[in-house]
Amino acid sequence: MSLSFDPDSLDLPRGHFIDGAYLQGPDVIEVFAPSDGRKLASVPLADARIVDRAVASAKTALERSGWAGCAPRDRVRVLHALADLIEAEATTLARLESISSSRPIGEATTGDVMVAAEQIRFFAEFADKECDALVPTSEAQMGFIASEPYGVVGAITAWNVPIALAGWKLGPALAAGNAVVLKPSEMTPFSTLYLAELAVRAGLPAGLFNVVIGDGVTTGEALVAHPDIGKVSFTGSTRAGVAVMENAARNGIKPVTLELGGKSPQVVFADADIELAAKCITRTILSNAGQGCVAGSRVLAEASVAQELCDRIVTLMRAVRPGPTWDDSTTFPPIISEGQLSRISAILDTSREAGAQVVCGGARFDRKGSFYQPTLVTDAPEESPVMREEVFGPVLSLQSFSSEDEAATKARHPTYGLSSGLFTRDLSRALRMIRRLEAGTVWVNRYGRSRDHILPTGGWKASGLGKDLGREAFLANRRTKSVLIDL
Ligand code: NDP
Repeated sequence: MSLSFDPDSLDLPRGHFIDGAYLQGPDVIEVFAPSDGRKLASVPLADARIVDRAVASAKTALERSGWAGCAPRDRVRVLHALADLIEAEATTLARLESISSSRPIGEATTGDVMVAAEQIRFFAEFADKECDALVPTSEAQMGFIASEPYGVVGAITAWNVPIALAGWKLGPALAAGNAVVLKPSEMTPFSTLYLAELAVRAGLPAGLFNVVIGDGVTTGEALVAHPDIGKVSFTGSTRAGVAVMENAARNGIKPVTLELGGKSPQVVFADADIELAAKCITRTILSNAGQGCVAGSRVLAEASVAQELCDRIVTLMRAVRPGPTWDDSTTFPPIISEGQLSRISAILDTSREAGAQVVCGGARFDRKGSFYQPTLVTDAPEESPVMREEVFGPVLSLQSFSSEDEAATKARHPTYGLSSGLFTRDLSRALRMIRRLEAGTVWVNRYGRSRDHILPTGGWKASGLGKDLGREAFLANRRTKSVLIDL
């Protein structure tokens, strides 16, 4: 069955979603489709007053509903109902996700939306299984570590996989007994708004999940600074992550989870399955047109296999079918905006001037919409932007190495440490290299997350702080209280 849809046929949700209803306002933000540049809608922008209304509604909903103090099984039941509804409404959610983003409808339907449902279910199950700890003390005392939710969590997400990121934030925060006010990217608000509608239909008390639309400097900053936000969970660029951390420090020393950018290496040794490595490497940099935080954008190949790897990657890159996100035969989506496309071009131009050789791509596609060609560069100097900066586009660099030491040194990025890939059939070498790679995740003979949500995700160094997914994400949404009783 074809998943393609007519972009004019969608009823787009408008307004902020607060207290179980849409709140309209002057429509000042224009939302466009990157697939062909058409204007989709105008939506309102939440200023500090609207953010205050959303946070107050969440706080009142927490108090009235007893969400934090109810039998945890009751939270599990509601969250499972939400996951069921997400699956039942997958077609609508996926279309709302696809239309303003770079997510092809096929991947949004069978991937992102289903992953969001899985994440809600996965975290629901922690609610009545994670226990507080009794600690060893003398017989005359009893000590234990109790945990409690923070209250209202402020969540902010990026535009690259909006519905999956909403699942990351919402699942653990709600399961742990908090309310959530979420600000999606102003470029991709629709699927998150519909998710909030579904949450109310699933039985989540109105106000426990509110969505405010707006930009980072107005809405995002007001949300982080709000005195009733107990914890901040952020996904976006390192630049914005720094601003969020400063803001959270200035306004209450709030705990922050920061999922930020990366410049991840993929290291291929000569003993690896080169065909597999080429497929994995190409898939990660072409998926979402390279607009993925974990995109393995720096390939390091052992000298004897570098040319073969290069040839295989170029063949795969030339086979893509660019097209609009609403056409399910599309294998290669657009760049989110013209601004982001210009940034990619500028990085390429500066790197070329510095000596980088463009083996394939290096320009936009000659077609309507913001499409950039899959690009492979070699011989780029270490200090050139294509080696140092997160491009967030379909741009791969290839370097060679001659020893394990050289591979480990070149793999290390001066600031980022999000993820890394390793291709080898030598188990001992893999185990040695895993220790040497400076990253929050290492994939061996594969590249990219699976649907094993038990594996936490999060970066080292400037790639972030704290974890999303896994048990860590649930625990990060509760704070502990040490109790000691003299008997
Ligand atoms: P941005 O940092 O530009 O924006 C992310 C979100 O933060 C948006 O909702 C944005 O609002 C908001 N924002 C921006 N500035 C502030 C601020 N000062 N205070 C509060 N909120 C703010 O990132 P992009 O949306 O361009 O997303 C791409 C980035 O996200 C890449 O760097 C990518 O690596 C990273 N990312 C990381 C992931 C991870 O798990 N590590 C996963 C996915 C993406 P608005 O845009 O509406 O103005």
